[in-house]
Amino acid sequence: MCSICKSDRNVIKRGFYRRPSDQKKVQRYFCKACRISFSEQTFAVDYRQQKRWLNQSCFLTLCSGVSQRRAAYVFQVVPRTISRRVKRFGEICEKNLANYRESRAKVSEVQFDELETFIHTKLKPVTIPIAVEKKTRKVLALSIGNIGAKGHLKQISLQRYGRRPSERLSALKTMAKDLKTCIAPKARIGSDRCPLYPKLVREYYPEATHYTCKGLRGAVVGLGELKKAAFDPIFSLNHTYAMFRDNLKTLSRRTWATAKSKDKLLFLLNIYAWFHNLWLDRKLAKPRLAVFDG
Ligand SMILES: [Zn+2]
Repeated sequence: MCSICKSDRNVIKRGFYRRPSDQKKVQRYFCKACRISFSEQTFAVDYRQQKRWLNQSCFLTLCSGVSQRRAAYVFQVVPRTISRRVKRFGEICEKNLANYRESRAKVSEVQFDELETFIHTKLKPVTIPIAVEKKTRKVLALSIGNIGAKGHLKQISLQRYGRRPSERLSALKTMAKDLKTCIAPKARIGSDRCPLYPKLVREYYPEATHYTCKGLRGAVVGLGELKKAAFDPIFSLNHTYAMFRDNLKTLSRRTWATAKSKDKLLFLLNIYAWFHNLWLDRKLAKPRLAVFDG
């Protein structure tokens, strides 16, 4: 399919080339309407890469609680090789998630909440709104935004890094907008009792039913993430959050591997979200990273 006109109609095959790195024959194509040529590799996960063998194991490793540096050590490559893949994979997974939202059946019940973590130091906290389908626990949408530090860190953060405008509402709105493509108009939407949420739900999903329940957060370490005494109405959500924390090294509590920038953290979040969705589809023995176009 042509990347410009998005159609197959004017695309013709036009020869092959031999890829120097592994001698594979790669099919070339040409779009007669747009007059551009491309190949089957142009949109592939491993486009213009040398270490193709690394991709799938790197994808699984990054989603299994291993830091980027340790992954580089295990695979005996330089850290830059891994960080480049984080960017490439992140972009692919973001698109995959968007295509998944558009191609799937409309969801009748979702739950959303915000996960809080930080960039580089606890003085620079960020919020990560994530929406999850209740029935399957699949991640449907997520985004990220800066928020202000709380408590005794507030003053120190102001002194050291100046005022960091809160992007909480815009991050929530980005998530809500993305979610709109895959949600049924009369869906049920669950969240905790944050005062911002009812207005957000009314604005984006006027016909939906919004239910809230008391947040069970406040746990400090380890299994506390899922420690609970009673039935948890937003279990799907809390379970997914616990999995994010456990499987993304940068999100685990008391970690050394802190995220270095918001963009890079977003790449990792998208990678994990896509992995999580593949992993829930037990059809596949091992989740494989590939371009998903609906
Ligand atoms: Zn074209």
